[in-house]
Amino acid sequence: MRLLRKKRIYLKERAYLLLMEYEELAKAYDLLEKTPKRLKKTSIISSLISKTKDEDLGMVLLLLRGRVFPDYEEREIGVASRLVLKAISTATGYGVNQVERLWSTKGDLGLVAESLIAKKSQNTLFSSDLSVRDVFGNLQKLAVLEGQGSVDQKVKLIASMLSSAKPMEAKYIVRSVLQDLRVGVADGTLRDAIAWSCLEGVKPNYDGESESIKPDSREEYNEAVGLVQRAIDKTNDFGLVARIARKGRNELEGLKLVVGKPVKVMLAQKAATIQEAFKAVGTPAAIEYKYDGFRMLVSKQDDEVKIFTRRLEEVTSQFPEVKEYVLKNVKAKTCVLDSEAVGYNSKTGKYTAFQSISQRIKRKYGIEKMAVQFPVELNVFDILFLEGEDLLGKPFGERRKIIESIILAKEKKIVLAKQIITGSVEEAQAFFEESVNLGNEGLMFKKLDAEYKPGSRVGYMVKYKEAMDELDLVVVGAEWGEGKRKGWLTSLVVACRGDDGFLEIGRVGTGLKEKREEGLSFDEITELLKPLIIREKGREVRVKPSVVISLRFEEIQKSPAYSSGYALRFPRVTGLRSDRSPLDIAGLEEVEDAFFGQKK
Ligand code: AMP
Repeated sequence: MRLLRKKRIYLKERAYLLLMEYEELAKAYDLLEKTPKRLKKTSIISSLISKTKDEDLGMVLLLLRGRVFPDYEEREIGVASRLVLKAISTATGYGVNQVERLWSTKGDLGLVAESLIAKKSQNTLFSSDLSVRDVFGNLQKLAVLEGQGSVDQKVKLIASMLSSAKPMEAKYIVRSVLQDLRVGVADGTLRDAIAWSCLEGVKPNYDGESESIKPDSREEYNEAVGLVQRAIDKTNDFGLVARIARKGRNELEGLKLVVGKPVKVMLAQKAATIQEAFKAVGTPAAIEYKYDGFRMLVSKQDDEVKIFTRRLEEVTSQFPEVKEYVLKNVKAKTCVLDSEAVGYNSKTGKYTAFQSISQRIKRKYGIEKMAVQFPVELNVFDILFLEGEDLLGKPFGERRKIIESIILAKEKKIVLAKQIITGSVEEAQAFFEESVNLGNEGLMFKKLDAEYKPGSRVGYMVKYKEAMDELDLVVVGAEWGEGKRKGWLTSLVVACRGDDGFLEIGRVGTGLKEKREEGLSFDEITELLKPLIIREKGREVRVKPSVVISLRFEEIQKSPAYSSGYALRFPRVTGLRSDRSPLDIAGLEEVEDAFFGQKK
């Protein structure tokens, strides 16, 4: 009796706080999983957002994307399937072997949890209701538990969530823990759903029969969606954007880029010829050297400088000299610069390839020594923000003038990207040769009147490189080694970027080293991939696409064996691209270009 009363008070409190029940989210996941239709998904999410209070919005929008940390945090939940299996066993009372058998028939631990919890709950009562906040908090906790005893703690934590979960909730809790949600929510769908549900007068009539929408005015509709997109680009925070959008369009429009927070950089398309490059960006165009270093987004506020990679990771402490150059040579109180850091040989002064400085990115100690041994020059090519003003909407030509006026160029420290403005193919060709002879990769062609679009691969800048013999690809699977490679992941399955996800293109083990001193080693790649494992069958594992590596190869062939339709012959790993995210890898069009290029 007392217990019942206690529960009632608890429920009352919850109603008072209006915490969203996890069941509400699980139901939305379920609907999303059942439909491949994009507009239907948008409508499902839009209804969910409408029911979500401001306090829960951030969590709900992250969880819908299968995350519990913002994109700019590298932290992952990182729980192996084995642990989840144990937790399911603990929560349901079924033996580990039984759970494992069911796993091998169902192929998805989420489904296993769902069915075992259903069986168990026929005999018992649910202990309590889970809120979105409970699950979110526990998932975050999983990511931070470390050290002695943490494995047991993780199992306990997952088991306790599962014990309180209804069958369908259990399915999605397990999949969230494994970071393999399988509900298919693209960022664009979330963006549209925010526009539909948070901005007044935007929600169009959705016709499920014909899978179409009829907004009152297509133009106004597109404008509203564009407004939400720009806000997301600036903040990388869907929850914040949704909350501000609820206040109104003006507030959303007024949302500024936050200095000191990472921003997604604008990406380049690819051109096969100089003519094609001009066609993409118009003439005359700004043409710059394409440096072979790594992207650095640098923000400065008074004497505070922060440096981010294109993965949105902060690397300020690894590059103390860059911080110093920015403090000394940038005449602005507040600004956000886009640039490429390029390594050079301190004796000859010649540029070196990316791999020579890549080791600095993850470095935690001996930083000063590294800075002397592997110095970088910062080549600034764009600016996003200056003294309280957002420059994203200004034409590139003007943004370039601004950087010219605030940067005191100093060779081998901080300079402007070398640039010419021309519409002549001959001049561009000569500039290309000059660039390549200096050790650069080729050229970037830029549209002079284009705005800056964070995170998009719009054709405002296109790259033109020499015939390619190296590709950056993402690892999507691997195999546990045998014999002397036991305990290591080997034979990596690599994929390129397709329109709608990743396309496999081959397997590679060659080039990985036995020892870390020699380069990217089996041991290091195993350490990186292990927390990303989402499925295992025998020795084969599938991993969440996250780790990017560079590969060289002898040849590309057409092949039905891989989903890209191509296969690499004699591929060899040349190194880790820890600065790149899976969004930055070679696209299928690049693979095709390389395929046709070799025929010539
Ligand atoms: P890719 O990585 O092959 O898609 O080429 C685009 C990358 O080239 C950018 O992300 C930058 O890191 C790099 N880059 C080198 N030089 C420039 C430049 N002048 N302007 C813009 N990006 C550049």
